[in-house]
Amino acid sequence: MPVFLLFLPNSFRYAPRPFMAKLTLHDMDLAGKRVLVRVDYNVPMAEENGVMVINDDTRIRATLPTLQALIGAGARVALTAHLGRPKGERVPSMSLRPVAAKLGELLGQPVAFCEQCVGEAAATAVNELADGEVVLLENVRYHSEEEANDDTFSAELAELADCYVNDAFGAAHRAHASTAGVAGVIAGRGGQCGAGLLMQRELQFLGDELDAPAGPFVVILGGAKVSDKIKVIDRLLEKADTIVIGGAMAYTFKLAKGLTVGKSLVERDKVDVAQAALDKAAERNVQFLIPTDNVVAEPTEIDGKFAFGYHRVNDSENIPDDVEGVDIGPQSTEAFTEVIRGAKTILWNGPMGIFEDDRFSSGTFAVARAVCDATASGAKSIIGGGDSVKALNKAGLGDQVTFMSTGGGASLEFLEGKELPGVAALSDK
Ligand code: ADP
Ligand code: MG
Repeated sequence: MPVFLLFLPNSFRYAPRPFMAKLTLHDMDLAGKRVLVRVDYNVPMAEENGVMVINDDTRIRATLPTLQALIGAGARVALTAHLGRPKGERVPSMSLRPVAAKLGELLGQPVAFCEQCVGEAAATAVNELADGEVVLLENVRYHSEEEANDDTFSAELAELADCYVNDAFGAAHRAHASTAGVAGVIAGRGGQCGAGLLMQRELQFLGDELDAPAGPFVVILGGAKVSDKIKVIDRLLEKADTIVIGGAMAYTFKLAKGLTVGKSLVERDKVDVAQAALDKAAERNVQFLIPTDNVVAEPTEIDGKFAFGYHRVNDSENIPDDVEGVDIGPQSTEAFTEVIRGAKTILWNGPMGIFEDDRFSSGTFAVARAVCDATASGAKSIIGGGDSVKALNKAGLGDQVTFMSTGGGASLEFLEGKELPGVAALSDK
């Protein structure tokens, strides 16, 4: 490195990785264009009196800003999405038809539905659109070529459009025809491929903001398994000032420290991995907090089914043989929330305990409140992970954080520093 670089201000040396160098709606020429938009409409549905009814329309609502922007720009919008796992078969209960009706209601304008997602019928449906009109194409996973990222199928999808927008961050870690292949074909013939507004926010917060975080940067990790998140821990050890570990994964770290864990959920084959993370933290001077006390419960059977018997606070780092750790204890909660309240950037991924059970939710909820308090004092808080989002919403605090990722598996892979095929396929600015 040239010597003069060492004297540049930090903001210069640690310039954010340019995720935002991907095209966005703002950069695209949309008026009168046929735009194929990949959305995440994998919504929960249930059958009621022989028809499929949408139980939760959050994912449909989440796409409205992008769709309104496209409509406002005079684009002709063809939406492609998957629902469930039909494995290449036309499974009627997995049709996207009910979504078209719901979307029409929410958008306040009719949304056409086409029973095909490629081929002549689809082409006709798209070519008949006027500027600002929308058609939803049938479940793209009715074709097995979708998940195979088949070239011919990608080319068939590409025939429907002049340009492409991906707003389905949650599917961006899969190299499928509708998330990657089609963008390759469209870009290959000079068409623009850009990020929708939802995707753009994901890249901004999980990418740019965490790449150059304001300090103190506190990373809170929890949930079930160390193995799910070790790569995230490893990468963030290079950025974080403090790493806070709760949930069952904390017990594997306890094992690494030679402590006892009783009947807690642990991964004995991951103790060396946990130890390596502890060593790296020590080397890099990253504060690494694991619970010093826990709520423990007695695993037992009630009516032949697994259940927890009594529960209590275990006021020791060691967990006795006959019980299982199910939440962080009050002392740990105090220590964790204090660091969180002092943070300027927070990433939270994974609950502190089995929060689905009200008896074991207090650690997770206290952390949620501390994250919101820090946010109110000016910190940026970024929440990744489906269950962490659920916990935050259960605590009624979903609107008090800076950003909640819609990604699940995709956010985890992105946080690991992996290139997501659905992002890589988009055009550079
Ligand atoms: P996220 O979806 O936010 O990434 P995970 O899926 O990794 O989170 O983990 C969430 C699950 O971890 C929850 O179902 C929760 O019950 C479980 N969990 C948290 N703490 C414990 C624990 N001490 N013992 C067993 N399971 C736990
Ligand atoms: Mg989860």
